[in-house]
Amino acid sequence: MTTEDGPKLAGVVGWPVAHSLSPRLHGFWLKAHRIDGVFAPLAVRREDFSVVLRGLRLAGFQGVSITLPHKQAAFSLAHSLDADARAAGAANLLVFRRDGAIDGFNTDVTGFAASLAQEKVSVDGAKAILVGAGGAARAVALALDRRGARAIWVLNRNAARARVLAQDLAPFVHARLIAAQLSDWSAIAFDASLVVNATSAGLRGAASLELSLDALPAAAVVCDIVYDPVETELLRRARARGLRTVDGLGMLMHQAAPAFRAFFGVEPEVTTDLRLTLERALCRHA
Ligand code: NAP
Repeated sequence: MTTEDGPKLAGVVGWPVAHSLSPRLHGFWLKAHRIDGVFAPLAVRREDFSVVLRGLRLAGFQGVSITLPHKQAAFSLAHSLDADARAAGAANLLVFRRDGAIDGFNTDVTGFAASLAQEKVSVDGAKAILVGAGGAARAVALALDRRGARAIWVLNRNAARARVLAQDLAPFVHARLIAAQLSDWSAIAFDASLVVNATSAGLRGAASLELSLDALPAAAVVCDIVYDPVETELLRRARARGLRTVDGLGMLMHQAAPAFRAFFGVEPEVTTDLRLTLERALCRHA
C-alpha cells in the first residue's frame, strides 16, 4: 500500500502513550506549515512492537517516534543506526525507507544539547553532575560530552547501574565519566557547574529528588528533563536559591524537530508559541 496521494502518516509508539505531548507538538508544526499530514498516538504493548512496526511500514507510514518502553527494541530492530543511537544503545526515532529498511536515530542526545544551547548554558570544560542511569541519562551524558564537559559525575539510586552506564559510554566520550553514590552528593557538588536530573523523580505524582542545593556554587545551573510539571520541585527549589534553571520542555521540543523533518520534509522551529501550547496542554491534564 502507498500513501503517495494521501496525507503523510507518522506517530509515536509507546505504552502507555495517552498522555504523550508528541501528537500536540507535531500537530502544532503540521498546522503552522500547512502540511497534509497525520501524527497519531499509537499504544503498543511490548510484545506487539515488531509486528506493529511491520504493519505501520506496510500501511505507508513515514516512520515513528519511540517512547517508553520500546527504545531498546527500536535499537535492535533498526537496520542502520546513527552514532548517537549506537552510543546510547537506544533509538527514539525510526524512519522507514522505501526499500523496506529501517533507519534508527537517537534525537534525545541532540535534543538535550540543543536545549542547553538555546538557553545559552555553556558546558565547555565544565564539571557536570548527572543524576540517573536509565535510558534518558545515557542520552544526557552523551549530550554533555558533545557540549564539551570535562568531567561527568554519574549518581544513581542504584549505584551499580551508574557504574554500568559509565563503563558502557566510556568508549564514546571524551569527558571523564565517574560513577558515584547519591550519598556522595555534598562532597561532589561544591564545584559543579551543572546538575541534571535525568531520573523520573519529580514527575507529577512521584516523589521529588531529595538533594540539598545548598551544596552547589551560586553560579551552578540546575536542569531537569522531567517536563510534567514544567517546574519540578527541584527546579522550584533551585530558583528559590537564585540558581539558573533549565526545564525539560526544551529537550522535548528539540528532540522532536529532526523527527518532524524526517516524517514531513520540513525543518520546524522551536518557538515560544510552541512552548506555550505545550504548557497549556500540560495544565489541562494536570
Ligand atoms: P528509566 O530508564 O526507567 O530510568 C529511571 C531512572 O530514574 C533510574 O535512574 C532510576 O533509578 C531513577 N529513579 C526513579 N525514581 C527515583 C527516585 N524516587 N529517586 C531517585 N531516582 C529515581 O527512565 P528514562 O527513560 O531514563 O526516563 C527518565 C525520565 O526522563 C522520565 O521521567 C522521562 O519522562 C524523562 N525524559 C524526558 C525527555 C525529554 O524530552 N524531556 C526525554 C526522555 C525522558 P534506579 O536505577 O535506582 O531505579
